[in-house]
Amino acid sequence: MTKRGIRDGKRIVVAIGGNPNSGKTTIFNALTGSRQRVGNWGGVTVEKKEGIVEYGGYTITFVDLPGTYSMTAYSLEEIIARNFIVDEKPDVVIDIIDAGNLERNLYLAVQLIEMGGRFIFVLNMADMAEKQGLVIDSDKLATLLGGPVVFTVGNRGRGIENLLDEVIKVYEGKERKTRHLHVAYGNELEEEIEKLQKIIWSDRDISSHFSTRWLSMKLLENDKDVKEKVEERSKFFTAIENQVSISRKHLRMVFADDPENLIVDQRYGFISGLLQECIAMKKLDRVDTSQKIDKVLTNRLIGIPILVFFIWLMFQVTYKVGAYPMGWIESAIDFINHGVSQVLPGGLFKSLLIDGIISGVGGVAVFLPNILLLFFMISIFEDTGYMARAAFVMDRVMHLIGLHGKSFISMIMGFGCNVPAIMATRTLENRKDRLLTILINPLMSCSARLPVYVLVAGAFFGANAGNVIFSMYALGVVLTILIGRLFRKTILRGESEPFVMELPPYRIPTLKSVIIHMWERAFIFLKKMGTVILIGSIVIWFLSTFPLKKQYSMDYALEAERVEERYDEEIRDLEKGAMNYEQERARLSVEKRKAVGELERRKSREEVSQSFIGMIGHTIEPFFRPLGFSWREGVALITGFVAKEVVVSTLGVLYNAGREKEEELSLILRDRSGLTPITAYAFLVFVLIYTPCLATLAAIRQETGTMKWTLFSVFYEITLAWVLAFVVVQVGRFFTMLV
Ligand code: GDP
Ligand code: MG
Repeated sequence: MTKRGIRDGKRIVVAIGGNPNSGKTTIFNALTGSRQRVGNWGGVTVEKKEGIVEYGGYTITFVDLPGTYSMTAYSLEEIIARNFIVDEKPDVVIDIIDAGNLERNLYLAVQLIEMGGRFIFVLNMADMAEKQGLVIDSDKLATLLGGPVVFTVGNRGRGIENLLDEVIKVYEGKERKTRHLHVAYGNELEEEIEKLQKIIWSDRDISSHFSTRWLSMKLLENDKDVKEKVEERSKFFTAIENQVSISRKHLRMVFADDPENLIVDQRYGFISGLLQECIAMKKLDRVDTSQKIDKVLTNRLIGIPILVFFIWLMFQVTYKVGAYPMGWIESAIDFINHGVSQVLPGGLFKSLLIDGIISGVGGVAVFLPNILLLFFMISIFEDTGYMARAAFVMDRVMHLIGLHGKSFISMIMGFGCNVPAIMATRTLENRKDRLLTILINPLMSCSARLPVYVLVAGAFFGANAGNVIFSMYALGVVLTILIGRLFRKTILRGESEPFVMELPPYRIPTLKSVIIHMWERAFIFLKKMGTVILIGSIVIWFLSTFPLKKQYSMDYALEAERVEERYDEEIRDLEKGAMNYEQERARLSVEKRKAVGELERRKSREEVSQSFIGMIGHTIEPFFRPLGFSWREGVALITGFVAKEVVVSTLGVLYNAGREKEEELSLILRDRSGLTPITAYAFLVFVLIYTPCLATLAAIRQETGTMKWTLFSVFYEITLAWVLAFVVVQVGRFFTMLV
């Protein structure tokens, strides 16, 4: 953290603010390169990024504020960004503005100016603005905003040096453009602002800390957060509160509208004046390409089929292309496995390594390529601008459940991971909408479930595996809609709110941004492998190995000897001279190995059966029996509660995949689990629907603020999972009987 107070004049703290998607992160990365530190904002799970640069003899710390559309206190992001600027008082504030979307972005700029400080206005996406034919008079704009304007093209690194130079110029007070200005709010409002300001001035405790004009405006806007701030610190709070209520009443009487609306109108008024002064349009003779593309992609009739096709394509690619690197990782794991079993002597430690860690973690590691591909596709959707279209296209469908397209963005994010998706619901202002979106989000199939699908679908559905996987995602979406509708009609009654969706222009994504997004995901996955999944595998190994004392139905060692002898004898009895002697001998030795292997497997099954996990498994077996799952699948589902990938690692440990040298887990499942394609499908349905992982539950708890909704979510999902899996089994049986 930056230490305030001990500033030696050689350190500069710079905050970077801006609308979401204005290119904040891109600029931040271009400025700071690799010297970044990622943490959280005090006490909350919003990510905080800091980066340090040495430039022009200074040590400059850049802080990437959360992206926000405004500086009111509607969302956590806004409060964080705002508090950083007002409380920490960075030396310079950079406002990243999407030059192609000036009007909306300037709204934030105006609010920043009101908070006071020294600003640099970065017009990013200068390339896009140019393509739209915008000609921006940056000198005039700088004068009107009271701070220098710098053009950048973040993804090409253009304008970054300029920006650094400007930071120093502003910090050293050498920038002529820097000046403090007020947005004029008209006589009536100004009078009330002044009255309030006078009272606040007299309290040095707050007037020395905050801009009194800003405080007054916020109070007039009825901003809860600022009100609390003032209440906490000012001894004149009652006087201030009195004046606020008189002023608000007066303004309401004069304008027949709430002061907060007035202020918003005034701001937009200021902006439109500004734009008229500084912007000219070049004549463009080509029709905007984005609009042309949108005619097709967001078409009322074919928009949804196209969306479905893209999502289908996404999972086909994920599965089919992923199969190649998956093979390589499998060979690598085999190699390690082989090495370990050759080098180590038998015993508990070896068993821990092979049956626990390699089976468990290795079993999950092979799915890394699938997950990378999934995120690769998702970030292409995001970066091209298609994701916003998807939300737009789905808007009508979402209205069926009384939600709007904005909720769909959180749902698509759920394909990646439910945790950020649930957090993304913060953009919804209505509490009931939010709650509903949170409750149905876990039905969107997250990437952690993918390994289970790939494994089980690969084992039971061969060439159709890709389609089976797609059907899981589709089922998830359909359920989300049905359940959403049900909840809307019962426990969370309400109407959907009107909402205007903004469609950003299409962009060709840069490879770098796609790869960074992919890498961030891969990193989370790798971290999960090294922590939750590793620990889970060890615990499961422990539970499946102990207690060590076991009773066997037969003396396996003796039996194995007998079998071997029998085959050896047969081999000896073969006639040396016979034509097919060599073939027969080979056949018999293969059979011998198989028979011995089968014995070993039976033995280890008996062992696991008597272990702690076997006991647990047998206890819960009745619950899963109607669904056709054995106790092993039952245990896997229970451990999957920790994280859904753990379902795979548990199956790996329980079926001793590490020990089977030539065979993969999917083959073992197919041949020995007792699952049929029908029950396997039911298993996938169960995995899709039942209780989300611990992290998701924690997110639900945090975002809903109550244990009640969290427990409700667990309960309804387990029930739904069981019922639907049961239906799959029954319907499946019925049809197989017909055939
Ligand atoms: P943030 O939400 O503000 O952090 O935005 P990001 O930094 O994630 O950028 C959003 C997208 O805009 C990414 O795909 C960037 O590659 C792209 N982008 C950033 N700056 C520019 C720019 O100057 N021109 C263009 N065409 N694209 C940009
Ligand atoms: Mg960002």
